[in-house]
Formats: sequence, structure tokens, C-alpha cells
Amino acid sequence: MKIALIAHDNFKKSLIAFCRKHKAYLEAQDLVGTGTTARLIESHIGLKVEKCLSGPYGGDQQIGGMIAKEEIGLVVFFRDPLTAQPHEPDVSALLRLCDVHNIPCATNKSTAELVFKALEHGKNKTD
Ligand code: PGA
Repeated sequence: MKIALIAHDNFKKSLIAFCRKHKAYLEAQDLVGTGTTARLIESHIGLKVEKCLSGPYGGDQQIGGMIAKEEIGLVVFFRDPLTAQPHEPDVSALLRLCDVHNIPCATNKSTAELVFKALEHGKNKTD
């Protein structure tokens, strides 16, 4: 199963730092991300990330579709709670689908660290 990586603009640096820290684990996984996030992770860290459209242009919906098809086992979505997003309905839909399909979704760094601690110290729970 794939890991989805998404970050709103104010949190892209934070997600890149997170991915750098967990590079050894992530490079053994299938990764997918919204367009800009995926490109930044590839160019800054060298991880291979399947690219969806940019979030505001449908990327969140594409990832939602992959969740519905049970292709994604974990979502790391560093979202910005303090800035209005033009594609807020898409963001809500993606989060809703995580709950519908019981897919873990880390929406902040602390949660993501806890999830990765479990993954890196145990068997690959996203399989
Ligand atoms: P982006 O999309 O990675 O293309 O910037 C993220 C989002 O806003 O959902």
C-alpha cells in the first residue's frame, strides 16, 4: 500500500524536514503526493514520489479516489489550520474518506512522528 504525502504551503518545509528525517524508511515505500509537495520532496530529498495534480487543481480528490480504491495505507497531510484554502471542500472530502475507509491520517508533525515511530520499530503496518 502507498503512503500519501501532502502539505499546504506553510507546512511544506516541515514535511520536507520530516521526510528527510525518515528517508531510510520512506525510500523502501511506494509514495504518492499532491503535485507541488511531491515535486519538492523529490528535488530536495531524492525520494521517488508518484505525482498527482496539485491539491487545488484536483490532487486531493485524486488521492481521495486512491483511498476509496484501497491503494493507500497511510496519509501524512500537514495541513494549515490557520489559512483559508480555496479547495477546502476537497480537503474535507479527503479526510472524510480516510475515516470511511479507516486509513490512518496524520495531520500534524507530532502525530506523524508517533506513527512513524511505530512503523520503523515494527513490521510495515501499511502493507
Ligand atoms: P500541492 O497541494 O502539494 O500541489 O501544493 C497540496 C494541497 O494544497 O492540498
